[in-house]
Amino acid sequence: MDFNLPEELQLIQQTARDFADRELAPLARRLDREERFHKEHWAKLAGLGFLGFLIPEKYGGAGLGNLALVIALEELNRACASTGVTVSVHNSLAGGPVVKFGSEGQKARYLPKLASGEIFGAYALTEPGHGSDAAALETRAVLKGDRYVLNGRKAWITSGAMAGLVIAFATVDPSKRSKGITAFLVEPSFPGFKVGRHEKKLGIRGSETVELVFEDLEVPGVNRLGEEGGGFAIAMDSLNGGRIGIAAQAIGIAQACLDASVRYARERRQFGRPIAHFQPVQWKIAGMAAGLELARTLAHKAAWLRDQGQPHTREAAIAKLHASELANRAATDAVQIHGGAGYCTDFPVERYFRDAKVTEIYEGTSEIQRLVIARGVLGDLP
Ligand SMILES: Cc1cc2nc3c(=O)[nH]c(=O)nc-3n(C[C@H](O)[C@H](O)[C@H](O)COP(=O)(O)OP(=O)(O)OC[C@H]3O[C@@H](n4cnc5c(N)ncnc54)[C@H](O)[C@@H]3O)c2cc1C
Repeated sequence: MDFNLPEELQLIQQTARDFADRELAPLARRLDREERFHKEHWAKLAGLGFLGFLIPEKYGGAGLGNLALVIALEELNRACASTGVTVSVHNSLAGGPVVKFGSEGQKARYLPKLASGEIFGAYALTEPGHGSDAAALETRAVLKGDRYVLNGRKAWITSGAMAGLVIAFATVDPSKRSKGITAFLVEPSFPGFKVGRHEKKLGIRGSETVELVFEDLEVPGVNRLGEEGGGFAIAMDSLNGGRIGIAAQAIGIAQACLDASVRYARERRQFGRPIAHFQPVQWKIAGMAAGLELARTLAHKAAWLRDQGQPHTREAAIAKLHASELANRAATDAVQIHGGAGYCTDFPVERYFRDAKVTEIYEGTSEIQRLVIARGVLGDLP
């Protein structure tokens, strides 16, 4: 047992930290205000190997695995959660499933482009009528000759309009529920692919969230990912990885809250001394620091288990649940420590407060994480 990060991971951490401080932090506020993703960051992230963490070197990736991804994501999200989620989805939910479930032809076609940043990756499971209950999704896929024809709508898709590859889920037989769900590799150039409305969001405004509309969308048969009916297992396995990425996002936000709170509490004076002298302020800061220690340990363990190919569904859910609730507590406390200043856009804590909320919602709400954990603990009920 060794709790020190190996040298290679320390290097990745430092690289991500430098990039976050130099490139992301100065722009994060503006990107949030302008509600746009900064595409110039994308090429730079690719140059660092940050768009191909899970992609083997053979396909142009860095092949470093989930723990390395988590460590980089913590740093990126500390500066800009919008960039953080875009990188997380690209690696965990788009590249990851192609690496794990793709045919040789699919890997050769998509992985080099994902790793080099030539294309963005997206993941389309949620629908307007089916979020937590994804097994009930309604998008239909019908095999016609050598292609599938997809009809349906996908909601809240991160990077959906920018993406060059969308991992999309549809059912070939709704009566089979989850056993009918099938995964497809969809390109925006396929006939019938349409981008719907761009969502206006509370936080992570610098990331793109759109509705996708499939109207007789034609997907070549060779672009089916895995077997017919095997899509739900692919979706859930990918989410196990994605949830660890969102835990890392929440850790990054909580760390940013702690850093900002420590800075402010040391500088701001009331009653003749820095507010850091007051115990209620100290307790809030201690709570953030203690929570972060636990959140990192949980997220790193879950990522490590995934890298080892060991079961980790429960650990990923625990890591996400704990980290996302921590991020929200930390953001509330950070705003409180800043007083009125925390409520205004001059200080970044109001952005952290808005960005933190979504970590309790996407890739499975906190209620769903608790269901997953309870299922793991209780097993099959009589
Ligand atoms: C900014 C953003 C980006 C997103 N990006 C993507 C993406 O890239 N790809 C994608 O596929 N999806 C994406 N999503 C969708 C996201 O995963 C869903 O919003 C989430 O899974 C919840 O689904 P829902 O919004 O339909 O809520 P619902 O499922 O309708 O849930 C509403 C409430 O009911 C509770 N609830 C539901 N079922 C139960 C139950 N059985 N027990 C207890 N409580 C329950 C929920 O916890 C929640 O509090 C994104 C969402 C957002 C906001």
